[in-house]
Parts: sequence; structure tokens; C-alpha cells
Amino acid sequence: MPTCELVTIGSELLNGSVLNTNAQFLSRQVTDLHIDVIHQSSCRDREEEILGTLSLAFKRADLIVVTGGLGPTPDDITREAIAKFFRCGLKFDQHQYRHIVYHFRVRRRMPPFMTRREAYLPEVAKPLLNRFGIALGFYVSKNGRLLIALPGVPIELERMFKAKVKKLILQTFKNRPRFYTLEARTSGLYETQIIKKLGSSFFKARTFEFGIYPELGEVAIRIKARDRRLIAVLRRELAEKLGDAVYSFKGKTLSDLIGEKLTVQKKTLACAESCTGGLLARHITDPPGASRYFQGSLVAYSNQLKVNHLGVPKALIKQCGAVSPEVARAMAKAVRLKYDTAIGISVTGIAGPAGGTKRKPAGLVYIGISDLRKNNVFRFRFLGDRQKVRVQAARKALFLLWQWLQKR
Ligand code: ATP
Ligand code: MG
Repeated sequence: MPTCELVTIGSELLNGSVLNTNAQFLSRQVTDLHIDVIHQSSCRDREEEILGTLSLAFKRADLIVVTGGLGPTPDDITREAIAKFFRCGLKFDQHQYRHIVYHFRVRRRMPPFMTRREAYLPEVAKPLLNRFGIALGFYVSKNGRLLIALPGVPIELERMFKAKVKKLILQTFKNRPRFYTLEARTSGLYETQIIKKLGSSFFKARTFEFGIYPELGEVAIRIKARDRRLIAVLRRELAEKLGDAVYSFKGKTLSDLIGEKLTVQKKTLACAESCTGGLLARHITDPPGASRYFQGSLVAYSNQLKVNHLGVPKALIKQCGAVSPEVARAMAKAVRLKYDTAIGISVTGIAGPAGGTKRKPAGLVYIGISDLRKNNVFRFRFLGDRQKVRVQAARKALFLLWQWLQKR
């Protein structure tokens, strides 16, 4: 199987001011092409460090993808460093320069002299024209290895990868083994519970790669195998053994699935959020076209708003407390009636760190769901800091809503 090393260049990546999203994007893309990513290296915009990183990468990988440092300013030195690595000079690419001039002309500006640099590439390289920005990308093919240099700006890199680079990689590395993959997303089970439910027989006498990735109340399972039929068998077994904890096999998010269900069932939704402060609404509005089924969310954080805008009885809050099953139920029903939707959903809880008591500790959250036939409440105790509690509460509300829609 061909191997790949990613080299991300930029001092900003090493001093923590920019998150290296290019590495994640490229790792995913290259892995999807059935090439093993064996290393990610990052270095500063310094010639000797770039040369050192490249020579290591060339020793261990067949494909080397470099990003960053192709810009016009003096701190961007990747193209010069790569030329030095291949012991050659630079050449000018007329085509890309015309594109640069055009890029500035439509913005009614003259290209600054500095940008000329961005039309240069090492003599041994072939250009990868960049229609999405102005820095020229390029590649060098040598002794069965391929080096690809791309601009650091994530959106340019992503577009160039999809438009050109993917094809170039596929053409260069023809004999890649074919793999089939499967992703199951689950909610409500810990990873240890999942492994226990799958049992040791799941892993016996068959060959596949298994990865399990917990993340705040959700667990993703990723499987990779050479045998396509095995993938189908494993998928069936996962569904059987994990039941309705599995909400998706197709990489879809809960928001996508909820949107599809509400659209098909021609239902509408409104939320009343306290401790999640609008986070639930943010998730629900992730899919484009959410306006078809989503009315909105009232962030009723204070008791005053819960009473005056939502119509939760003041006496109920006084008697049971704002964080109680009674108030969660009342909020869900009230928001459904107020905004005239088929379903109302509410979240009220103690995100912490302060505000908890022995009876009502930080992390205690009630989620209410209401439709014409039923008003239900669910109680949870989430662990973690304020942010984690809020994230888990919003995700759990989505999961409950999805399960609710399944049963209708
Ligand atoms: P430019 O023409 O914009 O100068 P460039 O190829 O020189 O392109 P850089 O100067 O290294 O790229 O970075 C441009 C922008 O892209 C910067 O805002 C930088 O923070 C961002 N960037 C660079 N590398 C990465 C990376 N690995 N992950 C995420 N963002 C990155
Ligand atoms: Mg840079």
C-alpha cells in the first residue's frame, strides 16, 4: 500500500496561533484514496527546517503533500526551499501570472509587485494552477515518489485538492488495494458498554480494522475491510447488537436525520432552551433548508422569561424550581402551543460549575418533548465542565427527538 507524509509549513502552526486544519483535511482525503498516512510533520518557515523535514519525509513516504508558505511575503519561503531540496532554480509560470493579473483587475487593482513571486515554481516541478487564489501550486514526480505543494489557505487547498490533486494522486499510484468502510454513530452508550455488547465473537476469525471514538456522549465506530460482503455482515451485526443506540450508518448527523424525518412527516418544531443557551437551535439549523420545519428557539434563561414569554406558571417554578421535570414538561408544551408547532422540545438544567446543590447537582439536566399526544420528560446527569454539560445536553436532546420521531 502506498504511504503518505503530510508536511504543513508555517510558524503560526507551531506557536499555537492557528489550528492545523489542513493536516486533518488532507489526512481524511488521502486515507479515503486508500493510501496510508504514516506521518504528519510541521515545521516553521525556516529553510533549514523545511529541508530537514522534507528529507525525512522522502525517506519514509511515497507521497508527500506540503502546504503553506507559498504566499508573496518574504516569510513565505516554501518554493525556494523545495527548489533547493531538488537542487534546481525557479521558473516563471506565465499562465498563473495572467490569472494573478486578472484576479486583481476584476477587483480594480494593480497586482502589487510582490505577487509576481507567486507565479514561480521550482524548475523540476509542474504547475498546479490555482483558480481559487493566487499562489501557484506544483508537483514534482521523482523515482516513483510524488511531492505536491499547495497553498496554506484552507479553502484554496480544499478546492484545489478536489479539482486537481485527487486525480493526480490516483493516476500516480494505480495499484492501491481497495478497502470498504463503514461508520456507525451511536448515542447513549459508553465505549466499554459497546465492546461488551458486541462480545468477543464479533472480533474473531475475520479480518478488519476496528476503531472506536468516544466524544461527549456519542461514540463513533469505524470499520475498514478488504471484503465488501464482510462490511454488510458487520453492519447487520452492529444494528442487531447495539439496537437503537445506532442512529446513523451513513455519516449523517442527528440534525440531518431530524430534518429529513420532520420534512417527510410534514411536522414543525420549536424549542425552549435554558441551560443550552441556543446551542440546540444551532444544531437544528445546521442543515440547509431547516426553515421548512424549524420555527425557532426561545432562550428562556431567566425565570422571568420562562413565565412572561413562555407562559410557564410562576407558582410551578416557585414550587418545583426552574430545573425540574415539571418545568421542563411545561416549557416543552408551552413553546409548542405558543409557536403552533407539532413538536416542542425544552432543555433546563444546571450547567455549573456553581449553582448545584446536593439534591440538584451541577450537570443535572431535564429535557422535555411534547406533541399532541404526549408530554415526556427525561432526566440526565452529565459530567464535565460547563461547556461539556451544555454540549452533551444539546446532543442528547437531538437524540431523544430523533428517537421520538422514529416512533411516530
Ligand atoms: P498566502 O498566499 O495566503 O500567503 P500561503 O501558501 O503562503 O498562502 P500561508 O501564508 O502559510 O499560506 O498561510 C495562509 C493562511 O492560511 C494563513 O491565515 C494561515 O494561518 C492559514 N494556514 C496555513 N497553513 C494552515 C494549516 N496547516 N491549517 C490551517 N490553516 C493554515
Ligand atoms: Mg505562512
